[in-house]
Order: sequence, then structure tokens, then C-alpha cells
Amino acid sequence: MRIISRCVFGLIAVSAAAVAGARSLLPDQPPIWSTKPDVNGFEKIENDRLEAAQQSIDRIVAVKGPKTIDNTLSNYDEALRQITAALYFSSLMEAVHPDAAFRDRATAMTRKVSVVQTALSLNRGVYQALAALPISHADAATQYYVRRQLLEFRLAGVDKDDGMRARLKVLNDQLTEEQSAFERNINDGQKTVDVRDASELAGLPQDYIDGHKADKDGVIHITTSYPDYIPAMNFAVSDSLRRRLYLAFNTRAYPQNRDVLTKMLHTRYEIAASLGYKSWADYNAADKMIGNGARIAGFIQDLDKAVRPVAEKEFQMLLAEKRKSDTGATTIGLEEKSYYQEQVRRSSFNFDSQSVRPYLPYARVKQGILDTAATLFHVAFRQEQGVPAWDSSVETWQVVDAGKVIGRFYLDMHPRAGKFSHAEMIPLLDGIRGKHLPEGVLVCNFPRPTLQDPGLMEYGDVQTFFHEFGHLMHMILGGQQPWAGISGITMESDFVEAPSQMLEEWIESPQVLASFARDYQSGKPIPAELVLRMKRASAFGRASYVGQQNSFTALSYEIYDAKPEDVDLDAIANADIVKYTLFTPLAGTRMYASFGHLAGYSSAYYTYMWDKVIAEDFFEQFNSENLLAGDAPLRYRRTVLEPGGSVSANDLVKNFLGRPQSMGALQRWMSAEFEAEPR
Ligand SMILES: [Zn+2]
Repeated sequence: MRIISRCVFGLIAVSAAAVAGARSLLPDQPPIWSTKPDVNGFEKIENDRLEAAQQSIDRIVAVKGPKTIDNTLSNYDEALRQITAALYFSSLMEAVHPDAAFRDRATAMTRKVSVVQTALSLNRGVYQALAALPISHADAATQYYVRRQLLEFRLAGVDKDDGMRARLKVLNDQLTEEQSAFERNINDGQKTVDVRDASELAGLPQDYIDGHKADKDGVIHITTSYPDYIPAMNFAVSDSLRRRLYLAFNTRAYPQNRDVLTKMLHTRYEIAASLGYKSWADYNAADKMIGNGARIAGFIQDLDKAVRPVAEKEFQMLLAEKRKSDTGATTIGLEEKSYYQEQVRRSSFNFDSQSVRPYLPYARVKQGILDTAATLFHVAFRQEQGVPAWDSSVETWQVVDAGKVIGRFYLDMHPRAGKFSHAEMIPLLDGIRGKHLPEGVLVCNFPRPTLQDPGLMEYGDVQTFFHEFGHLMHMILGGQQPWAGISGITMESDFVEAPSQMLEEWIESPQVLASFARDYQSGKPIPAELVLRMKRASAFGRASYVGQQNSFTALSYEIYDAKPEDVDLDAIANADIVKYTLFTPLAGTRMYASFGHLAGYSSAYYTYMWDKVIAEDFFEQFNSENLLAGDAPLRYRRTVLEPGGSVSANDLVKNFLGRPQSMGALQRWMSAEFEAEPR
């Protein structure tokens, strides 16, 4: 009893501190949309940030005497913080603002900020000031910060002659334009497939059919947005519908983006060659965990070796399923893969993924994820009421740690016309301990709950939600560093998908799922037996997934490893599917044209699988019987997330695992469905 009352007493003290903490930082940092800016207001916010950055840069260059952390690094970090915040905000507006004209101005602003960013990366005065900074007595994080920034300056070409620096600036500005065009073409590239015979929707869930009524001419419109596309690919019996839809989906932004991508290849190649690298892939790897292009090629081969035996087993099961209706079948097209996977889950694992949807209404899933994350990361979440945002559906939340507000996030979770059509976490502000709260935004496209429909989610949607929430927690918990430039997710970019993919694994846990999944009508908890069947069934298809990811990885690497004039996009995209998957490409698809990562990640799409290896290795450190047991959760938060970008990511991995990552955990994850006999 006594112990309990002491705990209760402790909790009271903590919540009093929460109020105090909330008062100390939050008034200085109103929510991003508190002034409800119109497009001119938005531009003013952005221009003010750029001006503040310029003043900080001027102060660095103006220092006459010795360079100190105070007169140089503090100003540098402030300039970086302001520029980055401007870039985050314009990127967010490009992705989410409901008004197309506003989005256009946001795109223009992104270009403007990128120009400033490039100019800073080539500013020799700032580089020399940082290089002259005595750091041997500074703390380890500060030393690491300065060394890493100096590397970035050299990779930008700051030490090249004036002519070359001018050319690099032109190339980088050009690249920004090209990237932006590539992404906008995809966002605007939604297509629609017309269905004239309602029987083509056979196999799809009733709420989907109800939500897709024929128009006055008797035509049903199925779009390429995720809530339309994914169920159709998984469940539609009609081969023809899936084929048409797959083709529409994989020709979005074609042909415009074939040309944009080709330009991007040329621009990037010239940048890399100017800086003495043999290819963009090599250059782009120089400030990453992986180090160089050859190691990407090696990783692709290692992954292929690991995946192939399991992928073969999965493929044979898919083929057997297809032969039930097509006795002579010897191949499975990419457009058939999801459908037959679903069929195998039903026939071999006695699992129909529709059977879990009633347990996954959006509101309950959201609460479940918040509760799970709160327990895992030892934080609390508190919604801020009545906060204005760019769309009325957006929610604003605070993250509270030991009674103190340590960050804020926004949830923009449902589709809208013109909105970014995938799922991502967009950082908004990098935190500085005691000064600025980190903030981030989840931009997703999950079914919107309405009065008639609670927004039932697919299992894969819930996994995506966990994934993006993993990015958000990384951003906030890592956002308590002394410098903005080493805060949040500023580490080597090929580490950032590890914490998000680690969190995906949590939905596989019966313990976690049972804690929130309840039937939206009866309120009954999801049956334990259904969860176990789902766990095994959901493991089926992992090797096919990894193989397909490896083919995308190879595409991203190969087009950026070659000389641009030698690149035949269609030939490489097809060849990589044949080489790294067992599926047959569908003629006429131009998947690369809507593969947004080829702009942002460029040659570094390997990041996903590289980090998947790390994520599975991390996940094995948790107790699979009770994920929250033992010291793993808190140790994970302290050693992996909290350091943000203040140490190298290779060290983050070693600090948590006690060794570098290895492929074993991924192999066990891929073959989980074959470990026990299916029912
Ligand atoms: Zn991610």
C-alpha cells in the first residue's frame, strides 16, 4: 500500500510539472497555423525565416577576432534551423494545402529556399569560419556536428574554384526544379478507370461497392488513389479490372516524368562528375552509413541471396493457387500478385483479411497506436483543442514526457483532391533542448470515417500508420539535442527508415493488436485465434515483398550508377523485375514515372531494405511474448532515438545491438510462415 501511495503522490507531482512545463515553452511556440495565413501570410513567414537566416550568416562572416562556438557555430545553427524550417513548411504546403494556387506558390517557395540552401552550402566564408573553429575541447556531439558539416560543405563543392562553384549552383537549382516537377506530376497524375459492368466489383467488400455507385450514365469510377486502388488489387476477382487499374496506376505521370527523370539523371551526373565521383550513386553514398556505391551493389546481391529460397516457396504456393482456375499457368503477373496472395491466405492459412477490417475502424486504430506508443516510449499525448489548421480535419497533439511538453504533431490523415497521395511524416521544426519544440506532421490517406461508415482500415493501412508514427517519435524524441543541426532525424539519411520499420512490427504482436482492435458494431475484442491466424497469414508474401523492393532498389541504383546517355529506363525497370522477383512485368507499365523516390531518395532507395535489416535486428531485442517487458523499450528510446543525429548511425546500431546489424533476423522474419504448418 505504501509503495502505491508513493507512486500516486509521484504522479501528482508529475502532472503539476506538466502544467508548468506547458506554460514555459508553448506560448513562445504557437501551432503552425495559428495566424491562419493566406498565401501572402505564408510567404511572409517564409521570407522572415530566410531573412533571419541571412542575418545569422552575416554575423558569422563579420567576426574579426577568433572564431568561437558562440560567435560562429551558434549563428550557423540558427541559420540552418531557419532555412530548414522554411523548407519543411513549404514542402508541407505543397503536399497538403487544399488550394491549387497556394500549392503552386508553395512550390515556388520551395525552389526559393533551396536556392538559399545551395548558396549556403557553397559559401566559402562560412565554411572557412567553421573549419577554423577550435573544437577539441567541445563536447562530443558538438565535435561530431562540426565535422559532419565540414564534410557536407566539401561534398557541395565549397573548395572548388569560382567558376565551378557557380556551375554547381546552377546545377543544384536546376535539380530542385526537376525534383519538384517530378513530384507535382505524380500528385496531379491521378487516373480513373471506368467500370461499366457492376459485376466487375465482385470480390470487393460491400462498403467499397456501396461507396462506388454508378453515375447517371451507369459508369462506376475507380481512381488510382490508395483507398480505391489497394482493395481492388487485393480482392477484385475480375482480371480485366485489376489489369486496367494496375496499368492506370503504373502510368501515372507518364510520359511527362520520363523526360523529367532523364533531365534529373543528367543534372545529377554532372554534379557528381564535377566533384570527382564516377557516378551519382557513388557521390550520394559518401555521407551515408553505406559509404559508397559498390556497397549498394553488394547489398543488393546479399539481399537477393537471402530472399530467393523463401521467395521460391511463396511463388510455388501462388502458382498452385492460380492453377485452380487456370490449369496451365506457369507465370504470375505483377498485377495478379496481391490478388493471389490474398487467395493463398484464405486457402492455406484460413485467413480472410476482410475478416479483420470490422475490428479496425480508424478512430479506434488511432487511439490504439497513440496508447501503444505512449507505453512503449514512456510519454503521454494530449490533444490541443480548437487549433486552426490548413484543413478542418487536421488534429494537433502535444507529446508530454515526465510532465513536460517535448514536442507537437499534426495528423492530416484522409484523402483530399490535390493532396499528396501516399503516406509520410513531414518534419516541421527541428527541436533544440529547452528552446524550441520539435514538430512534425503525419500526412496519410486512410479511409475517412463518416456517419454511415467508421472508416474501416486494411491491415496494411494500420501497418503504415505504425510506420509513420515511428518517424514522428524519432523526430520528437530525437529533437532534444543542443543544436538543431543534429536534432530529430538529421542523421545519415539511410538510417531514417529503421525506427519506422521497427514500429511496423508492433502490429504483428497479438498483445498489441488485442489492446485496441474491437468490432465497430458489437464492441467485442478481436478473437485471439483470429490474431494468430492473421499473424501467420500476414507473414506469407514477405519474401515476394522483399524481392520486389530489391528490384526497386536495383532500379534506383542502376539508373544513377550509369552514364545518363546509357540509361534506358524501360529496359532497366523491366530487367530488374525479372532479375530480382519471380513475377512477370505487365507490358506498357512505366512505374518509374510515378516512383516518387527517384527524385528525393534518388540512388538511395536501398535505404528501405538496408533499414529493414536493422529494424528486424532491433526488434529481436524486444521480448516477443511481451514487447513492453524488460529494459528493451527504454534502452531503445535512450540509445537509438534520443541521440538524434548527434552520433553516427553506425554507432547508434552498435550501441543498441552491441555489434553491427546482420541479415539473420530479416531471414527469420521472411520465413516465419513456414516455421509451423499452416492449418
Ligand atoms: Zn518511412
